[in-house]
Amino acid sequence: MKHFLHFISIIAFLFSSITLAQTNSLHIDGKITDKVTGENLSAVTLYISNLSNGTVDSTFTNSAGNWQYDLTVTSLAEYSQAPVDFFVSQNYPNPFNPSTKINLTVPQPGNVIVTIYNTLGEKVDGCQEFLNPGYYSIDWNARGSAGVYFLNIKTGDKSFTKKMILLDGGFGTGLSRFHIGSNTLPGVNKLNKITTPIAVQIRTSKFAYIPYTVDTALTGDSHFEFSIETIHSHSRLFDLHNDILEIIVGDTSYHLKDFHTYNQTDIPRMKVGGVDAQFFAVWVDPSSHGNDAFNYAMSMVDRFNSELALDTQNIGQARTADEVVSLNNKNKIAAILAVEGGHAIENDLEKLATLYNAGMRYLTITWNNSTDWAVSAKDSRSTTVGLSEFGRTVIRTLDSLGVIIDVSHTGIKTIEDILSITTNPIIATHSGARALHNHYRNLYDNQIIAIANTGGFVGIVFYPPFLSSNGSVDVSRVVDHIDYIVNLVGIDHVAVGSDFDGIGNNTVVGLENISKFPNLTLELLTRGYTQTEIEKILGGNVMRVFQQVAGFKKTLASLKR
Ligand SMILES: [Zn+2]
Repeated sequence: MKHFLHFISIIAFLFSSITLAQTNSLHIDGKITDKVTGENLSAVTLYISNLSNGTVDSTFTNSAGNWQYDLTVTSLAEYSQAPVDFFVSQNYPNPFNPSTKINLTVPQPGNVIVTIYNTLGEKVDGCQEFLNPGYYSIDWNARGSAGVYFLNIKTGDKSFTKKMILLDGGFGTGLSRFHIGSNTLPGVNKLNKITTPIAVQIRTSKFAYIPYTVDTALTGDSHFEFSIETIHSHSRLFDLHNDILEIIVGDTSYHLKDFHTYNQTDIPRMKVGGVDAQFFAVWVDPSSHGNDAFNYAMSMVDRFNSELALDTQNIGQARTADEVVSLNNKNKIAAILAVEGGHAIENDLEKLATLYNAGMRYLTITWNNSTDWAVSAKDSRSTTVGLSEFGRTVIRTLDSLGVIIDVSHTGIKTIEDILSITTNPIIATHSGARALHNHYRNLYDNQIIAIANTGGFVGIVFYPPFLSSNGSVDVSRVVDHIDYIVNLVGIDHVAVGSDFDGIGNNTVVGLENISKFPNLTLELLTRGYTQTEIEKILGGNVMRVFQQVAGFKKTLASLKR
C-alpha cells in the first residue's frame, strides 16, 4: 500500500508539471470582516475585474468570510523549474491588520525554521517542521505591542529575513502551522516569472454596506484582508432627544458608562447603535418641581457632567458643531445639553444665560405646561394665545446666543409668533406628521412647511402613541412619517429624535432601545433611500442647523454691548 501511494504521487507530479504550463492563472483569496464589529461577513459579492484584458467576474464570501478566485492571466511568462527562495507578502492593502501571511516555496526536502524577532534581536516566536518540496504558507497572527519585528525563514543553507511593521498591538496566537499551498509542484517558481504585473480591481457589494474597492497590481498569488463598513456606521447619527437624565437624576447607581439590560440608554448601547451625537434633555417635572425648576435643572446638568467625567474615553460634551466633529474623529460620542420646557428659566434671562453657559444648545420652548410667556400645544388656548412680550425677548435672546429653538410640545399660535420673530432655522426635535396621526404633539402640513422654510427640520419621534392610532407600531411606521415629510418638504428637513427613556416601556417594535438604531437605517435602505439621503436623515440635517445656529460660543455679556 505504501508503494502504491508513492507511485501515485510521482504520476501526479509528472501530470501537474504539464498542466501547469497550460493553465495560466493566479490564485487570489481573502477574508472580509465588518469594520466595526470585526465579525466575518458572509455573502459579500466580490466583482473581480482583470483590467489588463477587460474581463469581470464575481465570487462570494463563505460563512467564515473567506473567498477565493483563480484569475486567468494571459500575460504570464513561461514557468520555470528553477528552485527559489522564499516569497513573503505583507498583507495588502490594510497594514493595520496585525495578521501577515507568509508564502514560501521549499525547493528541497528539509527542516524549515521560521523565527520572529523583535528589534532587540530577542526571539518572540518560532516554529520548525520537516517539509517536502512545494508551496506553503504560514500565518503570523501578531501578538505583542506595536513596533518593528523581523521574520526569518531558514532551510538548509538558505536564509531570508523580512521586516514586519505591526501598527497596532496584537493579541493573536502567533505563528500558525504550515499550510500546504494550492500548488505543491516542487521547485517551480511561478511567482517570480510574471514579467508584467496584472492590474486587478476588486470591488465588494453587500446590502447595507458601503462598496469597497481595491486597485492592485498582481505579480503572484495574493491574499487580501479588509474590512467593510455599513452605511449606518459610516453615517453620523445625531439623535435629537433623550430623557435618560430625568431617570438617573433619581438613581445614583445607574451610570451611563455601564451596559444595562433596563432603561433604554447607556454608552455601551449607544456604541452598538452607532450614535455619534446625542442631545440630552434637561426636563424638570413641573408638577413636582414647579417652584425650584431652575435649581433642579442645574442639578441635572451636574449629573450630566459627572456621568461624562466617568467615561472620557468614549464620550465628551460638545458646545459647537466643530466640537461634535472633533469628538467623533476621536471615536467619542458628542453629548450636547438641551433644556425641554421654558419653565426651567423661571422668567429670568440670566438663568437662561447660565443654562447656555452650561452647554444648552436647544431650548424646547414649552413642555406640556404653558409658561407665563409661551403657550403649550396641550393648552386649550394653543390656537389663540402665543408669546407674551417677555416671550418675544426670550426668542430674540435665544437667536442672539445661538440656542436652537425647538417647537415640539409648543402651541400652534406660539409657533406662529416664534416664526414672526426668529431669524434662525427652528426645529421640532421629537414629533410626527399630524396628517398621518392627528395628535397634538404632531405637526400640521403648514407648520412643517413653515419650519422647512426657515431651513429647519422635524425630528421624528419613536413613540407609538404619536405615530399611529393602531397601538403596536414597528420601525416601518417611523419611516412612514419620514417619507411623509420628505415628500412634503424634501430630504433636507427631516431628522430623528428618539425620545428614549422619555417614553416608558411603550416602544416601537425594532427600536426598543438606543442600540437598535441600525434597524432604522435598514428600513430606510429597504424603502430605497440612498446613502446620501440616509446621511442627511440620520444627522446631516442636524449638523447643518447646529453649525448655522450654534456654530460658535457667545456670552450674554458680549451681546449686551
Ligand atoms: Zn418631550
